[in-house]
Amino acid sequence: MAESRTFDVIIAGGGHNGLVTAAYLAGAGLRTLVLEAREFVGGCAVTEEIWPGYRVSTASYLSSLMQDKVVRDLDLERFGYRVDAKDPAFFSPFPDGRHLFMWQDRARTVAEIAKFSQRDAETYPRYEAHLEKLAVVAESLLLTTPPDFPPSGVGDIIEYLKLAGKLRGLSRAEIVGLVKVFTQSAADFLDEWFESEEIKVTLATDGVIGANGGPRSPGTAYILLHHCMGGVGGVRGLWGFVRGGMGAISEAIAASARSRGAVVRTHAPVAKIRVRHGRVSGVTLEDGEEIEAAIVASNLDPRRTFLKLMDATDLPSDFVAGIGKFRSEGTSLKMNLALSGLPEFKALPGSPGPQHKATMHLCPSIEYVERAWDDAKYGRPSRSPLIEMTIPTMYDASLAPVGRHIMGIFLQYAPYTLRGTNWDVEREPYAERVLDVIEEYCPNIRQIVIERQTLTPLDLERRFGITGGNIFHGEMSLDQMFVLRPLAGWAKYRTPVRGLYLCGSGAHPGGGVMGAPGHNAAREILRDR
Ligand SMILES: Cc1cc2nc3c(=O)[nH]c(=O)nc-3n(C[C@H](O)[C@H](O)[C@H](O)COP(=O)(O)OP(=O)(O)OC[C@H]3O[C@@H](n4cnc5c(N)ncnc54)[C@H](O)[C@@H]3O)c2cc1C
Repeated sequence: MAESRTFDVIIAGGGHNGLVTAAYLAGAGLRTLVLEAREFVGGCAVTEEIWPGYRVSTASYLSSLMQDKVVRDLDLERFGYRVDAKDPAFFSPFPDGRHLFMWQDRARTVAEIAKFSQRDAETYPRYEAHLEKLAVVAESLLLTTPPDFPPSGVGDIIEYLKLAGKLRGLSRAEIVGLVKVFTQSAADFLDEWFESEEIKVTLATDGVIGANGGPRSPGTAYILLHHCMGGVGGVRGLWGFVRGGMGAISEAIAASARSRGAVVRTHAPVAKIRVRHGRVSGVTLEDGEEIEAAIVASNLDPRRTFLKLMDATDLPSDFVAGIGKFRSEGTSLKMNLALSGLPEFKALPGSPGPQHKATMHLCPSIEYVERAWDDAKYGRPSRSPLIEMTIPTMYDASLAPVGRHIMGIFLQYAPYTLRGTNWDVEREPYAERVLDVIEEYCPNIRQIVIERQTLTPLDLERRFGITGGNIFHGEMSLDQMFVLRPLAGWAKYRTPVRGLYLCGSGAHPGGGVMGAPGHNAAREILRDR
């Protein structure tokens, strides 16, 4: 057992956000310790060699949201962080044999859209410009600490006025658009712009990734916008594959943190956050080791932090009750495949092709996705799910043995809570069903699968420690966002226990590999010193 030592600050959990907080705090001179339960850091941003020679991004698989400021401040490129922007961005094959590509080059995308609707092709550049304007405003909030809600003093009123100031430069129509994007469904939002089902469903997928809702559920338009923030290489909205897999982001952040003096320990599960006289005093590990620190920042999701690692008596009862109602059940499932070749699409035969470099969507219409959600609403995994496939080895061949590929399958909707059964029973039969669906589009899929890993929401919870398997540490719905994340009055990374902070995705601005909650929490911790 390692000897007990005293640190200024302990970060419970070595996900990418915890590591970001650690790097900033160590850089500010605080003796900083990161305690990660697993054998490696990164949380949901990891690369794992799950089969010999295959280095798989087992959870998150694409990068875009990572904040430029964090990349610069922590010098992540020096520590190996590099992203290859996807091009084409999307490939959607349709059951009638047609297909749609979306490219980095807008003119090529417009030409593709024209295959489905001339009117939509003309609209698309205006739609993109509109979304970009809204994204700029929303993006300016990512590294902001939300003011108290309801406002409790002059300081908060000033903060709200500053927020209102961010709307300067938007036309009346754009302000209306902003309100709509925060409240509408993705389908309603897109209906206002486009007529073609194929275009709408291709764009709508971003609105339901990780969501507890279908494209017709109010609030999903914001998730669509959330996925349009950030970019790769300074180009907004682009998503890309990280060289070395998603774990390379976390490794780069960890290396940066270590270079600033942070100590990062793995195999170190925190069992308890200790409190003395209303102040945090340190943590106890599962093996009983006690480590003291006057500051603890939790990278764990809010339910796990407050309901599992703390005594309810150390927290106000209304706070405990509020966290108990923080919705954290996920509906996403991840499959990882090792492939001996590439999938051949009926809608576009030939390998390799540009389709293999894109995010490949299998979901023919908005109604199809909505029906997929209908299943999940009643506790059934979607019989015909929305499937998003990516092949990172098309950009980084070093991730798999020569001639072999990795394919990631991200799927909506697989509800955490199943009615009348459980995921340990349903996992493999459902994985077969997923392959059936893919087979409708790619008849050779079963012949090329060498290995498969299926991570149901229950497995995501068990493996990555995310409550309910929710990929964002808690639903990203309007009532759990910004000033309300995780609870009204507690959106400033502070908690009712002095010295205890949240620094993970359960805090503003939520989930995704972006480093923003970690960055913001570090700033608030330093402000309090
Ligand atoms: C399947 C899946 C696909 C996704 N796809 C994408 C994507 O492509 N792009 C994207 O931007 N985002 C994606 N996301 C979302 C994104 O990965 C997460 O929102 C983000 O990585 C969360 O980071 P975090 O640092 O806040 O928390 P986490 O990554 O959850 O880190 C928390 C850490 O705490 C550790 N921990 C838990 N309990 C303890 C304990 N008791 N003691 C010590 N340590 C503990 C965990 O092991 C983990 O390392 C995906 C998520 C999932 C699950």
